[in-house]
Amino acid sequence: MLEGKIAVVTGASRGIGKAIALELAARGAEVIINYNGSAQSAGEVKKEIEEKGGKAETVQCNVADFSQCSEFISDVIKNYGRIDILVNNAGITRDGLLMKMSEKDFDDVVAINLKGTFHTIRAVSRQMIKQRSGRIINMSSVVGICGNAGQVNYAASKAGIIGVTKSAAKELASRGITVNAVAPGFVDTEMTAVLSDKVKEESIRQIPLGRFGKPEDIAKTVAFLASEEAGYITGQVIQVDGGMAI
Ligand code: NAP
Repeated sequence: MLEGKIAVVTGASRGIGKAIALELAARGAEVIINYNGSAQSAGEVKKEIEEKGGKAETVQCNVADFSQCSEFISDVIKNYGRIDILVNNAGITRDGLLMKMSEKDFDDVVAINLKGTFHTIRAVSRQMIKQRSGRIINMSSVVGICGNAGQVNYAASKAGIIGVTKSAAKELASRGITVNAVAPGFVDTEMTAVLSDKVKEESIRQIPLGRFGKPEDIAKTVAFLASEEAGYITGQVIQVDGGMAI
């Protein structure tokens, strides 16, 4: 279904990004696995894809850095001649109460989650416009829609991603490029592994479907948005949260 497509997935060394890389590769795309610090884990994702008969490579790039992103994307275009799918998944949390949050914790989260998303979209846009096709999928969060105590930095970054998504969708639609966001609820990854059992139990009580999401739940939604079948969907935020934010 995605045969011959070239896909870039940021933050694909583990968690949701890894599941997305595996899912896109399983559907036939050649996947560029981006990571920042976790070279070994990224290499294991590449190996897993190759063992299943797919094609992948790993590329180190800190998405918070504008020039690193420009160089990263221009190398992909040089090597593959095109980019069909961009998934902006890289993200971090630096939780804390507003009253005590440092400026650095606010800036770091916005730099990686929000500015990182702008950096890569900026870098792929010229090529996708030239191709007159492209799929851009950005990872937001239900926290960007509903807010969350202890996460003003994260919520601001994820709400900002929704603004970027809708604006880029309007700007790029006439060139056949769709831009959508996925807003997961709680998903079982290293990011949520830090939550105490008590917080997890309380959170599950707020989820109508009664469980945390799996990375694969998010990956399948991303793969759909990346497909030909989703060609008439743009500027949308798809909540994949077990009904948590109804
Ligand atoms: P995770 O397990 O912590 O993985 C984060 C990924 O982002 C890693 O591959 C990490 O790679 C990469 N990354 C971090 N900083 C980076 C940077 N500066 N440049 C490039 N890559 C960077 O997180 P996750 O739970 O899979 O979350 C993935 C995305 O989904 C994030 O955007 C997150 O906000 C969003 N999300 C998650 C949940 C959830 O419940 N888990 C809910 C809603 C939304 P390195 O280790 O190499 O840095």
